[in-house]
Amino acid sequence: MNRMSGKYIALPKGVTEKDLDAAIGEFRRVLGPEQVFTDAGHLAPYMKIMLAVPEAQHAPSAAICPRSVEQIQQVVKICNKHRVPIWPISTGRNLGYGSAAPATPGQIVMDLRLMNRILHVDPELCTALVEPGVTYQQLYDYIEQRNLPVWLSCPAPSAIAGPLGNTVDRGVGYTPYGEHFLFSCGMEVVLPNAEVLRTGMGAVSNSNTWQVFKWGYGPYLDGIFTQSNFGIVTKLGLWLMPRPPAYKPFVIRYEKESDIVGIVDTLRPLRIAAVIPNAVVIVNTLWDAAPVTKRADFYSGKGQIPDSAVREIMAAKKLGAWNVYAALYGTPEQVEVNWKIVTQAVAASRNGDILTAAEVNDSPVFKYRAELMAGKMTLQEFSLYNWRGGGGSMWFSPVSQAKGSETLQQMALAKSILEKHGFDYVAEFIVGWRDMHHIIDLLFDRSDPAQMTAAHRCYSELIDEFAKRGYGVYRTNTAFMDKVAGIYGPVMRDVNRKLKKALDPNGILAPGKSGIAI
Ligand SMILES: Cc1cc2nc3c(=O)[nH]c(=O)nc-3n(C[C@H](O)[C@H](O)[C@H](O)COP(=O)(O)OP(=O)(O)OC[C@H]3O[C@@H](n4cnc5c(N)ncnc54)[C@H](O)[C@@H]3O)c2cc1C
Repeated sequence: MNRMSGKYIALPKGVTEKDLDAAIGEFRRVLGPEQVFTDAGHLAPYMKIMLAVPEAQHAPSAAICPRSVEQIQQVVKICNKHRVPIWPISTGRNLGYGSAAPATPGQIVMDLRLMNRILHVDPELCTALVEPGVTYQQLYDYIEQRNLPVWLSCPAPSAIAGPLGNTVDRGVGYTPYGEHFLFSCGMEVVLPNAEVLRTGMGAVSNSNTWQVFKWGYGPYLDGIFTQSNFGIVTKLGLWLMPRPPAYKPFVIRYEKESDIVGIVDTLRPLRIAAVIPNAVVIVNTLWDAAPVTKRADFYSGKGQIPDSAVREIMAAKKLGAWNVYAALYGTPEQVEVNWKIVTQAVAASRNGDILTAAEVNDSPVFKYRAELMAGKMTLQEFSLYNWRGGGGSMWFSPVSQAKGSETLQQMALAKSILEKHGFDYVAEFIVGWRDMHHIIDLLFDRSDPAQMTAAHRCYSELIDEFAKRGYGVYRTNTAFMDKVAGIYGPVMRDVNRKLKKALDPNGILAPGKSGIAI
């Protein structure tokens, strides 16, 4: 819980006000007073969370904004000296997973948004090297202004989020390069002892292959700097997708919830064979309805929205029970051949209504998906927060095999737990390659204490019940990191703790991230 202090809105565990004062004073000398914040006004943006816990549980004591790798190195030395913890963020839009706030109270947010140089884009090799503060919008504008023949892959909050933060949290996008960590190549990391490591070929002096060959020599280390607290990533290499000459987004609408089984089994072989090269997103009615209507327009009673109201929304808004979005990319000839394969597979399954842009060009929902699958900037998915209102959102995202039989049981389980606690099933399945992320947005009203309590219990039960059946989540929010780490077992925890002790013996870097602390 939050430790009070006269001067600070929170104190880190085990740190006295005197020690924090000393560290803050040294930060001011290194960074300049204008880059160090301790007052409630400046800290307000770093406190805002969407989780079902009080903000005090994640309140920082201060925020600092370094401008260079050298400044980060000096900050890290000060943190070691005074044993004060820092929580690095890049663009800080980890919304629904904890936003910019630290896992435990009192940690100093290290906001890297001022380090926002696009260091390199190579249009021949289709690579980029960026700093943490670079936003997708900035990179998109850079590419557009120079008319470079490459596309980005971004998550739904696109414009306001950034490739480095998204990738180190192992986020996903919707183009063929949507598994973002897979399409990253090379990192620069400030270690907790203030040394600078370049991974892969970046470790060879004068190398020009840092952004083209991922593996380097010896153990491949990049993975341990994702979803972890072993280093501060200060540069990231990305692979960019060559701009395809032809692009054909489409939607397949299905009438019944149980159709999900056939959908996955029909489309999986096409996805694995890369006939459909991007993640196939299977969106339920309520998720797709959010941009075009509100819950209160169809239901104002208590508890989960009934199926009858969902069917009314489907009819009124021309939505399926499941709405499948995917796209074809390549030369016009390649797209034509693949379109034939896809339409034949859907026809053979005797289910689903497949539609192209020309057939649904009046649909804002389709337009949004088409833009997202082309790596364009759009903020339409934020309409999810108008569905119920009240600003509460926690992503529950279990992984499953890409098999139809898995979907129905996961859906039924999630829906019944959500129903028990009075929440709607607002969900999508994302067929990655051989796996699926089942993404459920647990939406609730943060101003209603009863909903806060219910949402917390609901999320906890989702984790437990899914784990009992062998399902783990691919990512979680800062309020549940420890619990989720428990699901992955004692050996994993022990290895992570040993790595942590070896790399960060004073535990100064983001204690609690992914349940890892010394
Ligand atoms: C409506 C909506 C839709 C969303 N859709 C998607 C989606 O499609 N795909 C998706 O992946 N996410 C999605 N999200 C979740 C989230 O908003 C994105 O993942 C976003 O990209 C993360 O924020 P960011 O890029 O600003 O990263 P940050 O918030 O900067 O970083 C994320 C985390 O990574 C760690 N970190 C950041 N920088 C560093 C560093 N330099 N060194 C070490 N560790 C670091 C920190 O723990 C930090 O909390 C969605 C959220 C909302 C609200």
